[in-house]
This record gives sequence, C-alpha cells and structure tokens, in this order.
Amino acid sequence: VLRLLARNLWQPPRTEPVPAVEPGDVDSLVQRLEIASRRRLGRSLAIRQVDSGSCNACELEIHALNNPLYDLERFGLSFVASPRHADVLLVTGSVTTSMREALLASWQAAPDPKWVVAMGHCAIDGGLFAGSYAVVGGVHTVIPVDLVIPGCPPRPVDILAGLLQLITCESTPT
Ligand code: SF4
Repeated sequence: VLRLLARNLWQPPRTEPVPAVEPGDVDSLVQRLEIASRRRLGRSLAIRQVDSGSCNACELEIHALNNPLYDLERFGLSFVASPRHADVLLVTGSVTTSMREALLASWQAAPDPKWVVAMGHCAIDGGLFAGSYAVVGGVHTVIPVDLVIPGCPPRPVDILAGLLQLITCESTPT
C-alpha cells in the first residue's frame, strides 16, 4: 500500500497536456458571448445540441465546453434538455434517414426566433458519409441553417467563436 501511495504521489498525471489555448482567451471569448447574448436576447443563450448522425467526436468537443478549462456555464450559457427551451440548435453529424424526422421535429419544437448551427463537416454537407444510402445529406437539406462551423471535429474555441459570430451578426434568427 505504501509503495502504491508513494507512486501515486510522485507520478505525473497520465492525462494529455492542456491544449495550447490561453485560458485568458477562452474567458474573454465566453464573456463576450455572454455580453452579446444579453444585449441581443436580454438573457443568457440556451443551446440544444442535436446529434443527427455523428460519429460522436463532435459531441466530445461540445462536452469539453463544460470541462474546468472552458466551464461555459459559469457565465450563464447553458445546454438545455429540450429544444422547447433553446435559442440555438447546435446540430452535429450528417443527417441520417432515421434522424431526419427527429431533426425536423426538434426544429419545429424550438420557439421562434431561433438559430440553427451546423457544426462539423458532416453537418455541413454530409462529410465522410455523403452519398451513403443511410444519409440524407447536410443539415441544410432538412432545415434552414444560419451558421456553419467547419472542422472534423471543430475545437471548443471554434465553437465559441462561431456562437459569438452568430449572436453578434445582424441577421435575424429564423
Ligand atoms: S465532422 Fe468529423 S468528428 Fe464530426 S461527426 Fe463528422 S466525422 Fe465525426
């Protein structure tokens, strides 16, 4: 037991090093996003993530937004459990035939005005899975898209920058 204790005390962490992103940059980005959403909506931004057929790597990057480095919720920005409470539908993955109806139903359930963000190459145009018999295509083939965030998968800072761009641009949500 003592040997195990000593090893655990002196052994460096086995996790990957923190990504080369300055915490100050992340803070400033999240703060600007929160200020912009309060100015635009009068409150914090509520995001509903919809997986329309992804490989789940895009979801891992979204999950990272809630880890201690990014900690999105400390500024009030939150992921909500239902599209009925959402300002933004953050859609990942190429739209599969079996998810087409669910994506459409989520969009119809979200209150107006609402934004749709297609996150990752798959959501933009089908990506790796375009042309498959099981795939309808990009998100735009089912519902209107307001912003695309390219990448496979996009980094958490890219997602934050995309949301900031969405909320500060002049276009009216659909
Ligand atoms: S864009 Fe890349 S990471 Fe995201 S769902 Fe498609 S294959 Fe996976």
